[in-house]
Amino acid sequence: MPDAQMTPLEAKSPFELRVDLGKGVPETDVRSALRTGDMGFLHSFTTGSAVDGPGIRVVAWTTGCMWRCRYCHNPDTWTLSNGQPVAVARAAEEVRKYGHGLKVMKGGFTLSGGEPLMQHRFAAKLVGAVHAMGIHTVIETNGYNGEHLTDAELDGIDLVMLGIKTWDPERHRQLTGMDLGHTLAFAERLAARRRPIWVRFVLVPGLTDDMADIAGIARFAAKLGNVERVEVLPFHQMGRFKWERLGLAYTLAATEPPTTELCEQACEVFRREGLKAF
Ligand code: SF4
Repeated sequence: MPDAQMTPLEAKSPFELRVDLGKGVPETDVRSALRTGDMGFLHSFTTGSAVDGPGIRVVAWTTGCMWRCRYCHNPDTWTLSNGQPVAVARAAEEVRKYGHGLKVMKGGFTLSGGEPLMQHRFAAKLVGAVHAMGIHTVIETNGYNGEHLTDAELDGIDLVMLGIKTWDPERHRQLTGMDLGHTLAFAERLAARRRPIWVRFVLVPGLTDDMADIAGIARFAAKLGNVERVEVLPFHQMGRFKWERLGLAYTLAATEPPTTELCEQACEVFRREGLKAF
């Protein structure tokens, strides 16, 4: 399968709308890429991120996600073929270019998406190669496909940023289209292997702001023993234009971002369980 060269791998931000970059790739090649991980589908690379893990980071944004979160701000990453095919060696070299600076700035490399573990063979190979360079590695994931990573592969991930969307199983299905159980099972497996987690929780007024529900996540996270911090992420409308341009039905057009007070209230729920929350 050819390594796409047409669209620059680097984007100013993941909010750049990208579609159909891998559309011409034959189905057999897609299947082979998913099976071997020698090739992955990427929306883009961005550099200089200060919000995707510790320090300053290079981030690779994968395409493909089986969830359909109603507040997703990058729905163009749902479809694998919206990304461009990139050889794992090329992706690793892209990170290596920044290796020295990333180490100096106590940052590293983050694999995000979309859902990076949709392409778990590619994710494991790329993160493993970067880890072997001595660069700090992070995966931002919903945890759904975590069961496909071996214990050795987990040990090559320095930090997992795990999205927990809501605590109530039925609300979780309505919000994401998927079951919550896989995410929790992955968190427990990481805890058993003492791999650090940062929990990410998106606070959406009217959707995920039930404090009793948040308390359920907080109790679960506190019991794990490996959660270093919780990030309460305020809902925003920056991805709305993508839903509209892609012709998708966006249900949160009238939803306002949470107030500072509401964010602080949610943080307090986590802090009451002894967790650091920001
Ligand atoms: S898991 Fe992430 S990428 Fe997938 S739909 Fe939800 S917010 Fe979007």
